[in-house]
Amino acid sequence: MKRRAWLQLSGAGLAALIGERNLKAVSALPAEAPDRPVILPHPQSISYGTQRINLTDGDRLAVSIEAEPEAGPEAAEAAQMIAAELSRRTGRTPSLISKHGPGELPIRLHGFKDSRAGKETEVEGGYRLSVTRQGVEIASRGAGFRYAAATFAQLLEQDSAPRVREVEIRDWPTFPWRGIYVEVTSGACMTLADWKDLVDWASSIKLNLISVGLYNCWERETSVLDAEYFLFPSRRYPQFKTPVRSYTKQEGRWQEQTALPAMYTEDFLGEIVAYGKARGVAVSPYFSSLGHNTVIPRLMPEISMKDEQCRPIGYGFCTTCPQTYEVLFNLYDEIIERYARPYGVTTFNVAMDEVQHACQCPSCQVAWKGEDNFYVEHLIKISRHLKDQGMTRVLVWNDMLHRSGLINKDLESRLAAAGLEGLITIGWWYYEAPREGYFAPDESFGRAFFRPNVGIEAWAVPSNGWDTTALLGATRATANEALVRLVRRGEERGADGVISYSNHDPIFEQGYVNASQYAWNPAPAMADTQDRYARWLFGDDHESGSRALKTYNDVYGIYAELAEAFYRRPVPPKLGGAIDSVRGPGLEKVRLRDSVASVDSAAQALAAIQMRIKDPGKAKSVGMYCAEVRRLGAFLRLTLAILNCTSAYDDFRSQRDSAALGFLTQRLEELRQSGEEHTTVMREISDVRYTPSLPRILPYEQKAQDDAQQLIAMFSEMERRGRAGQTNFLPEIVIRDQDFFASGIGMVLP
Ligand SMILES: [Zn+2]
Repeated sequence: MKRRAWLQLSGAGLAALIGERNLKAVSALPAEAPDRPVILPHPQSISYGTQRINLTDGDRLAVSIEAEPEAGPEAAEAAQMIAAELSRRTGRTPSLISKHGPGELPIRLHGFKDSRAGKETEVEGGYRLSVTRQGVEIASRGAGFRYAAATFAQLLEQDSAPRVREVEIRDWPTFPWRGIYVEVTSGACMTLADWKDLVDWASSIKLNLISVGLYNCWERETSVLDAEYFLFPSRRYPQFKTPVRSYTKQEGRWQEQTALPAMYTEDFLGEIVAYGKARGVAVSPYFSSLGHNTVIPRLMPEISMKDEQCRPIGYGFCTTCPQTYEVLFNLYDEIIERYARPYGVTTFNVAMDEVQHACQCPSCQVAWKGEDNFYVEHLIKISRHLKDQGMTRVLVWNDMLHRSGLINKDLESRLAAAGLEGLITIGWWYYEAPREGYFAPDESFGRAFFRPNVGIEAWAVPSNGWDTTALLGATRATANEALVRLVRRGEERGADGVISYSNHDPIFEQGYVNASQYAWNPAPAMADTQDRYARWLFGDDHESGSRALKTYNDVYGIYAELAEAFYRRPVPPKLGGAIDSVRGPGLEKVRLRDSVASVDSAAQALAAIQMRIKDPGKAKSVGMYCAEVRRLGAFLRLTLAILNCTSAYDDFRSQRDSAALGFLTQRLEELRQSGEEHTTVMREISDVRYTPSLPRILPYEQKAQDDAQQLIAMFSEMERRGRAGQTNFLPEIVIRDQDFFASGIGMVLP
């Protein structure tokens, strides 16, 4: 559906979650009656009856579950999943037998029996599920049983005495592969328990792939910390390791520390892969080589790219140096032997995005036949090796091939000549959402994505959220919309997978729901998907919850520039620079005051909802949203207090009387209070946000806090002078550029 059309469908509460700020509120078309259960992702075809069937009879769990042996181990496994869900809710164990007792509702799992053909019978992962007074019938094959069981679990209403409504579902995945790529930055700080939670969450929303970033780097001038990540302990090259910034709680206080990633020290990747396999989620490796590669070339300069003087540049690989491939393939082999082959994983992501340099050594110059050869030859060489090692899918990001116009018939024939037909899948990544009807001159998304069709498989790579540094509003504003557009374009143009680029953080939950929805079934309007998510999360409070998030989004929208100018990776500007960047209507006095007030009431609404939610996981999510809303509120209040204080100080400079001084004192007190509020918010963020994300959130908040304290010290000094009658020199204070105190600050403060 065109964006304009779905905007018309979205109502005020629903628009909240989309991040669209200027659309008119129209009445919403509910996806289905509110008393119906929410299934995530929403099935391809579903029709409810009117009756509800109780699964308990007094104290007894009145069901029996039967999986036909001919339906295979997946049916038996799905039967176990259903049994586990029922016993989790009721504390009782249902019977897993082939004959059901009197008064028991039979739940039967079997192959497709009747001759009714449909997509659900044709597509791998498809299933039919019907609930009637006679029983629950689940027909499927293979992985489809697991999806049917996941759907059944979501159909259950109420916990202690579950019941289920009459329903007929026909369902199948539109894209065979539905996954997420977990970027090294978040992966590096995740514990084994965090990874298992992620696998469980992915499995519950019918995703079947997690690609784990094992090696990725960024060229950053500031520090190698937060720039280089190597997440598995190579036995062959123990020198490759990267300390990362993380936070741990000690005696109730958060401490920043620098330590090797947990995945590295505990070497638990194999355990994650096994855990995923048991839950229908393939966990596959990701390893960068040409671009995003600085640790290996820094520690092994002989295989680094070289400059004209043949000096190693500490980036990428010299591709004519034989030792390069020896090292790279040894690393590949180690990864495959330890983390892929034992678990039947045959997908390997080689990334190869954003290659910034090329080797200038004499032998590379002799071999140089143009960029395409350098790049494509490397791709062919590594893919051939991975194929020899049993990999059946090599995933490569599109950007380098696409930008150089290399996705063409020539590439297809070169791959065929190298015996690599059907091996490579191109991941087309795009996270922006250009406005409908506008040309985006710097992006070829609309013009060329997924083209030309040259017999190389394609996956769509949207993002469900990746920047934890930015306030959540930044993700909401573009990612949700962009995801739907990219996935639908992929579907039109024959892509067969969707993998989201993610820095994993549960605060992107809604992004995950969107990714799973549009990869499974791209048909529903965005507004309906958002509405379902709100009902799933907030339950009876979904209207006020949606409204609170809409308020957050609207306010974030007004101050996006201000917030983004401050929360910008890798190094934030000073708070003064951020404030200076927004001179437009965003800083209008009344508007800023009103915005702060409306964000406060949104936070209060979310806090109240959080108290009412019984499910601890959902309460935690709402708590995270609440802290995020407070973070925006505290940041804006700090801004408001700074501007008010500056203006009161200017009055005092002109008046130099006690009334103006009194007013300055009052404004200064407000600024101190907002500094304290910000400290409280920082503590709350540390407690409720996802711990692995703290290294990418807290340094920014600390910077805002430090800047605010500097400002407070500055105004306090001026106020002290006023009280002491030393008013002959009161310098102008300008909030500008990278500097708060543009004129003469060095002269007046120690
Ligand atoms: Zn070279």
